[in-house]
Amino acid sequence: MSLDCSMNILYVTSECAPFSKSGGLADVMGDLPRSMVMQTGVESCVVVSPGYRSTMQKYGAKLVKDYDMKLDDPYDVLWVHIYKLVEDGVEYFFFDIPGIFDRDNLYGYSDDPYRFAAFSLAVKRFIIDQNNAGRRFDIVHCNDWQTGFVPLLIKQVYWDMRCIMTIHNPAYQGWLPPDQLWNCLRLPYWMYENGSVRLGDSVNFLKTGVYFADAVNTVSAHHAQELLADGNCFGGLGWALKAKGDLFLGITNGLSDREFNPTRDMRIPLPYSYHVHKEGKAAAREAAMKAFSIQDRPNTPLFIAISRLTPQKGLERLWGIGDSLKKCGGRLMILGSGDYDSEGQMYKLQEAYPENVSFWRGYSNDLSHILYAAGDFFVMPSRFEPCGLSQMIAMRYGTVPIVSDAGGLLDTVTDISQPDGRGFVFGNWADKDGLWSATCRALETYYSADGLENLIRNDMFYDSSWNRAAKNYLALYRKLY
Ligand code: ADP
Repeated sequence: MSLDCSMNILYVTSECAPFSKSGGLADVMGDLPRSMVMQTGVESCVVVSPGYRSTMQKYGAKLVKDYDMKLDDPYDVLWVHIYKLVEDGVEYFFFDIPGIFDRDNLYGYSDDPYRFAAFSLAVKRFIIDQNNAGRRFDIVHCNDWQTGFVPLLIKQVYWDMRCIMTIHNPAYQGWLPPDQLWNCLRLPYWMYENGSVRLGDSVNFLKTGVYFADAVNTVSAHHAQELLADGNCFGGLGWALKAKGDLFLGITNGLSDREFNPTRDMRIPLPYSYHVHKEGKAAAREAAMKAFSIQDRPNTPLFIAISRLTPQKGLERLWGIGDSLKKCGGRLMILGSGDYDSEGQMYKLQEAYPENVSFWRGYSNDLSHILYAAGDFFVMPSRFEPCGLSQMIAMRYGTVPIVSDAGGLLDTVTDISQPDGRGFVFGNWADKDGLWSATCRALETYYSADGLENLIRNDMFYDSSWNRAAKNYLALYRKLY
């Protein structure tokens, strides 16, 4: 048994900011290992993630080749080129697997399950190599479906190595036809038959991770309750989680103080603290108008939405606020990209309200920072939301959130009607008018004598740092010893 300070933790993840990012998982994996080292004194944190083409192109010059690993079973020969970087006391290893990660995008390929099965086998070999070199990991912390097979693969070799599975988004689970279990992972068919790697009629990566991990968590307390309340949710995943008993819990994410800090954000025109937020936000608003090539209408509210465009995010509800915007001359700026239908909805919304809605299709970190700073309101009408970082980012930049009462949104945003209210929360997503009525309340406050001042103060002073979350993860690591 190790003492905390000498704990060796391995994080396995398909994304890690700033090296690769498609959503909140990357932010968490960029922050949590560093926070563990810096704030809880854990001695050794190692992160393993894919060396995607974009990662290698952008960061290749900083990375040092560690070694080449050859995987032969179940492949003829699969080379894994391992690169290393040490930053802020965290060791990062990037697995560059030609043909597998050397592609334009992170995901979205029909062979994604095969790609991450190969990655998982490479992680297993890496753990064995490290063990042979004298470094044994005390905790292997896996994240989302892409790493779902890692706990099982590790326990084949080191049955007592402790594994944690964190579910950042249960809607993505990773599926394989049962007959591929042997071809892809060299696992026997009886593991499918006895149910341990099965959900419904397929092999399921995330369910396998839940089953074989020693503890499982999701990224907010309220979402954990939601998952437990409905066993059938997400294809029956709820039942697998219920079976974990008190080894399934919710730990609400923190937010990076480096990446999202209005006082020293070089991506916004004028960094600002609460005391000068009016000036800082006015400068950002001017930059946002310029970026969208539109003329500002002073003293009108600016609504922002920054999101992956998928049904999860519920952005079709934005139709409900078009008329309110038109009436008050307010604007809604949407930055996002995603599936074809959701993008189409945003184009149609823009067409229906050309004076009030502007849609920027794409992914832009720089523009997102300007918008977070520029907005009066940040709209996030998610159908479900395991944690949500965007509403926390908005609050840090003094942009008041208008959110549904899903998952982590409820853990982080309190309604204005509560003491220390930080935003506007609407319940019952199925009610089409929920967002509309929250927006009416928001506009009433905007035009009231005190305006948004109280909310902005509560938002900007809200502690969403990693201190609390890192301590909660440390407590979970300790619990496994
Ligand atoms: P999820 O992980 O479900 O996508 P989160 O709210 O947890 O949602 O995290 C989303 C992260 O991705 C935030 O940092 C947000 O600013 C960023 N993001 C989402 N869409 C875009 C985009 N189109 N351009 C830039 N950043 C984006």
